[in-house]
Amino acid sequence: MPNYLDASALTKIALRAESVATGPCNCTRTPLDGWNSQPVSLDEGRLEEIGTLMVDDDPEPSYREYLPGDLDYWSPNAPITPHFFPYNRCNVWQCMQCSRLYLRYTEGGGYFVDRRIRAVNSALIQDVPL
Ligand SMILES: [Zn+2]
Repeated sequence: MPNYLDASALTKIALRAESVATGPCNCTRTPLDGWNSQPVSLDEGRLEEIGTLMVDDDPEPSYREYLPGDLDYWSPNAPITPHFFPYNRCNVWQCMQCSRLYLRYTEGGGYFVDRRIRAVNSALIQDVPL
């Protein structure tokens, strides 16, 4: 069973991780404040999956995005809203070296597949209903 995390559970883990994660790490070599294609510099062997934002019994997660104002998908300050795309497809990963948290999902399908990653910033997590 995957460990389902809602907005408040994710915020709690993120705050704990932020209190211990200081200084540079392998995982901070490429800034991941906003969504990014997974950088080659990132050693995924140092990431451990600790949970998911995917709701277990939802076969078709929404493609709606929550981007108030002039924010777009790539904005480093776009809110992290677990019910909305692409957060509703993400698993939560933790760097075993520094404890930082990351969200990862696979964008596209068929011939176009891109693995995306974004760092979790507790201040950006918002529990907005669909
Ligand atoms: Zn790290």
